[in-house]
Amino acid sequence: MKTSIATVSLSGDLREKLDAISKAGFDGIEIFEQDFISFDLNPTDVKNMVSDHGLEITLFQPFRDFEGLPEGILRQRAFSRAQHKFDLMVKLGTDLMLVCSSLHPAGLGGIDRCADDFSALGDIAKQYGVRVGYEALAWGKFINDHRDAWEVVRRAGHSHIGLILDSFHTLGRRIDPNSIRVIPGDKIFFVQLADAPAIDMDLLYWSRHFRNMPGEGDLDLNGFMDAVYATGYDGPLSLEIFNDQFRRGDAKMVAQDGHRSLIYLMDEVRRRTDRPLKSLPALPNNVVTTAVHYVEFACASVSAQTLGALLSKMGFVNVGQHKSKDVSRYQSGEVNILLNSDQQGRLYKTACEHGVVVSEIAFVVDDANAAFKRAIMLGAECITLPADSSESEFPAIRGGADSLIRFVDSELDLWGSNFNVISSTSTKPVTIKAIDHIAQTMGYDEMLSWTLFFTTIFEMHKSKMVDVIDPDGVVKSQVVSTYDHSVQLTLNGSDATRTSAHQFASGGHGGSVQHLAFATDDAVSLAREFRRLGFQILPQTENYYADISARFDLPETELELLRKFNILYDEDETGTALHFYSTNFGNGLFFEFIERRSGYRGFGAANAPFRLAAQRRISKLNNS
Ligand code: MG
Ligand code: MG
Repeated sequence: MKTSIATVSLSGDLREKLDAISKAGFDGIEIFEQDFISFDLNPTDVKNMVSDHGLEITLFQPFRDFEGLPEGILRQRAFSRAQHKFDLMVKLGTDLMLVCSSLHPAGLGGIDRCADDFSALGDIAKQYGVRVGYEALAWGKFINDHRDAWEVVRRAGHSHIGLILDSFHTLGRRIDPNSIRVIPGDKIFFVQLADAPAIDMDLLYWSRHFRNMPGEGDLDLNGFMDAVYATGYDGPLSLEIFNDQFRRGDAKMVAQDGHRSLIYLMDEVRRRTDRPLKSLPALPNNVVTTAVHYVEFACASVSAQTLGALLSKMGFVNVGQHKSKDVSRYQSGEVNILLNSDQQGRLYKTACEHGVVVSEIAFVVDDANAAFKRAIMLGAECITLPADSSESEFPAIRGGADSLIRFVDSELDLWGSNFNVISSTSTKPVTIKAIDHIAQTMGYDEMLSWTLFFTTIFEMHKSKMVDVIDPDGVVKSQVVSTYDHSVQLTLNGSDATRTSAHQFASGGHGGSVQHLAFATDDAVSLAREFRRLGFQILPQTENYYADISARFDLPETELELLRKFNILYDEDETGTALHFYSTNFGNGLFFEFIERRSGYRGFGAANAPFRLAAQRRISKLNNS
């Protein structure tokens, strides 16, 4: 199946759009008439420009208000308009036009009247060597359901007239996609795909502003694709995404996301079907990760000492030193933190300029090479590393900001082969257990993109996006996690320029990880131990504890312990959480420590305003 995207989905002029589309790896474009009209080249030159980009024009659209008009001047005009467009299509080198169902105030409807119109149009199209596909708009005046559009096409009975399906128009109206399974695949001329978030609103407004890439929304694209596939359709799969954010966003990123979503969607169809189709690409399996193997911070040597000292106050032990580089390994429980102050390190300069930055996250996987291959096939950027044998054992792709994501085979003895032991692991009874979650901060525009990145490459799913209230605006937070929650990532983004998230993401901090949260079995004992080691816990207010005392049914003794150690408290449907924070280090990074009880699944979002306010109080104190 060929991949295609409507030019209307992207920002920029036609040439910029073609650049982005071609770089992302698409086979073709749906040319939106407006994009053509507003571009300063004649049809033949546009045709050449498209083919110079290695693309073809899979569809010309839209043609509106054609069918079901009364006999006379209106109908005649509709036909001569169509003829004019056929002429243009021949010059552009495309053979398929989309006619969307009519909204014309004078339209009379009537299945047979519409079928007759299309039959007559088919005769003209045939003379031009072009074809016409009919699409039911979800808000069409009479035809607003693909089943009715199919009936029009069926009755037209013309070789040059077929049906165009659009997942949004079918699923947005909650029409069962299985109704597609009775349509012959050769009468489906084109398939358009779009997802959308589940929001109750006017269909037209929803469609024009909120469509997004398959997998980014909540519509049943899998059910839709399975039904299309069952018909035997093997033509283009084309993204037609009207989205305000995409149309003002980075065309390259949006095109890449689109291509990634299509490759993923097709591969998922291939996995579900018992009738393999050659033209569907085969990706290696979803990357199953069971743990974060290590997190690496790039730091200038002086900040490596400061951060090392902070880690020691958190019970970490400096257990190893890289054999050939200036990289120290700190360990606590199953957590490995690397401090890389090697001057040849990729982000060394960034770290010298901006302070400590997370430079690598390594995930434990079954087969690192297969994981890498899948990521690359899904459009991840390969990072070429220096030809050093120890590096090549665990391949890397580009992650958030300029950081790396590494895949490490579960069998690889990374520590034994690359590190000298300088101290044995801590045997203290109270330590951090594992990484609970990694919080990355980014521009709001990038959130959908990174969510799609993780959910397509890894065996991960997304939870519902939540609002976190910063004193200076709203921050959106999206959790993506493995199904067993062993690896959890929170992606935070904000448009509100004064929020801490926005300032972190836009402030040139060079990295995107803003905090690491560690899991503990006993937050109170951990806090007590930390205090003994001289660690400063982010202080909370008396008012906070008065409030949780009123809101929750906590025993006085427990409340007293929370207050004493500045521990925050939260509850969700299943369980409770005790969590506390470090003060900020570097350029706005911090650590969190969380004890989950009885299957608490949240991330303490309700406490975020208090954390943010406390961080702000402290930074004011430090700056005064
Ligand atoms: Mg459409
Ligand atoms: Mg957190």
